Amino acid sequence: AAKAAGKNHFMRYAPEMRTRTELRLLLEHALRSALDAEDQLQVHYQAQQNLDGSLIGFEALVRWQHPQLGLISPAQFLPAAEEAGLMAALDESVLRMACAELRRWRESGWPQLRVAVNLSNQSFRREDLVDMAARAIAEAGVPPSSVELELTEDIVMENVGSAVNTMDRLCALGIHLSIDDFGTGYSSLSQLKRCPIELLKIDRSFITDVIHDESDHAITNAIIALAHKLGIKVLAEGVETQAQFDLLRQSGCDAIQGYLLSKPLPADALPAWLAARPR
Ligand code: C2E
Ligand code: MG
Ligand code: MG
Ligand code: MG
Repeated sequence: AAKAAGKNHFMRYAPEMRTRTELRLLLEHALRSALDAEDQLQVHYQAQQNLDGSLIGFEALVRWQHPQLGLISPAQFLPAAEEAGLMAALDESVLRMACAELRRWRESGWPQLRVAVNLSNQSFRREDLVDMAARAIAEAGVPPSSVELELTEDIVMENVGSAVNTMDRLCALGIHLSIDDFGTGYSSLSQLKRCPIELLKIDRSFITDVIHDESDHAITNAIIALAHKLGIKVLAEGVETQAQFDLLRQSGCDAIQGYLLSKPLPADALPAWLAARPR
């Protein structure tokens, strides 16, 4: 009877397990071809603004335009891309598309704009990262000083010595570096001070309730004070309301990004968005 039950058990669960594996392989296969046919990868752009009102530029945020499934958000496919080891290829494609787009903004009357591109840990560990970035930027014909790379806290902490070396070489190109989602990872202050970082991006999770949650407010103020002592600027992510904006201004925050300013927009919506802004 036990054997029969065991067999039933197997019969019941085997198809599901096979389906899960198949699904993952399907997704992986689809992602590989999406990376080959670059038109399936889209980049949306979200504005970043200084507290004095001046526009810094836009963060490039990838989307997958699947022929049958429609627009898929990064949260839905980046984990599979990571598991499949596809993040380096994906980040490189996004960097190339973002730099090409940056060139169009700069040539259409916005020469001061910057673009910020996310780098996964897999990308950061590429042996040829610095060469790849230099080539992508040069081929797009934009100044390296108009490109920012957003790193994760984990990158910085994993192996500080070699991470700082890589960051120094990126900075030597003229690229700017920031740390994304700050406050959610495990960076230590002593390690942070060794990094050539220009900007900390406070994670949205601290900003959401910053008005009502005293701890979030205290954490936000502490991050700003610390960063400023280290000569680093601070941007708050996920700013949705004027009240949050006002509080962040009082706290001495340098810049914001969030729905208050703009949602991430497809590239072809940017000219109208820019035209509607006072210069
Ligand atoms: P992130 O880099 O922290 O980007 C900010 C995310 O917060 C974006 O989600 C953006 O749409 C969302 N967001 C911005 N402002 C607001 C707001 O006011 N309210 C709310 N509720 N959300 C806001 P998205 O585009 O879904 O991207 C999610 C994450 O995926 C990104 O977080 C980033 O970690 C990753 N990602 C996106 N594109 C790339 C890429 O090209 N390469 C890599 N390595 N990662 C990427
Ligand atoms: Mg980011
Ligand atoms: Mg972020
Ligand atoms: Mg975030």
